[in-house]
Amino acid sequence: MGKMDTRTPAGLNVAPLTTRGIGVRFFGVRGSIPVPGAGTLIYGGNTACVEIRVDGRLFIVDAGSGLASLGNTLVDGPEGSFDILLSHLHQDHIVGLPFFAPLYDPSRRIRIYAGNLGGQTPETALRTMFSPPLFPIELDHKAKHLDFIGFQAGETLRFDGGISVRTTPLRHPGGATGYRFDAHGHAVAYVCDFEHAGPAPESAMIDFVRNCDLVIYDTTFTVEDYVACMGWGHSTIEAGLALCAAAGAKRLAAFHHNPDYDDAKLAEIEALLERVSPGSFCAREGQALDFNEIALSRARRGP
Ligand SMILES: [Zn+2]
Ligand SMILES: [Zn+2]
Repeated sequence: MGKMDTRTPAGLNVAPLTTRGIGVRFFGVRGSIPVPGAGTLIYGGNTACVEIRVDGRLFIVDAGSGLASLGNTLVDGPEGSFDILLSHLHQDHIVGLPFFAPLYDPSRRIRIYAGNLGGQTPETALRTMFSPPLFPIELDHKAKHLDFIGFQAGETLRFDGGISVRTTPLRHPGGATGYRFDAHGHAVAYVCDFEHAGPAPESAMIDFVRNCDLVIYDTTFTVEDYVACMGWGHSTIEAGLALCAAAGAKRLAAFHHNPDYDDAKLAEIEALLERVSPGSFCAREGQALDFNEIALSRARRGP
């Protein structure tokens, strides 16, 4: 992935990963399949994986191929106990797990959540992935440092330190779960993978992302490309912008980029985002943002 790019969307101060407020860092921004190569050097080719810090506490949202790099940043870090929140178990959202170094360190306590399996835990599916002939290393059944947790999308998850994370069911083949993190009046939502219902945003989704500082949203398709792919379970840039506008959400992070969209195409989309909704952007691998009191008071004063 290279050096961290702390490029700042307009009006936003960045002091990465605050210990008070919400920090976001993108390790994988692509959908469907990793697409390394000359055409994806700017926005990145790894699939979905986002580090989200709430008052410094680590959450990992989705375990796509970007998870391997995230894991490397944790190897010498102090995080003894943390949570991986999966949107669902499609391969582009779990393919990084076998190469996530902390998984093999029994001194870590790792919990892996899924909310789209009717309350079942993701353990059986993930153990299948970690078994020959799919992968040579099995997850040790006696490993005490791994917990698999199933819940129903829509429940609120509660964590130590008084942190609670709202969840919502998402329209996607096999279902998926959206997550919303709140701290000190700031909020970041993760809505991926998701297909919108129609031209008007749905009230349940408006409510879910209401007044968010940032909505990380499945923008797999432009509105033109969507026509041929309706029912695939993915959304559009335009539907994401409409949702944010209806909900009073401040910024859209276009995410789960189409593997066929190269850097030039994403730069075009980003220019459109910036015109329609200043501060919105196409998420880039390595990009970090911080939502805390200082960042927001500066944003209010303008650049
Ligand atoms: Zn996906
Ligand atoms: Zn999916």
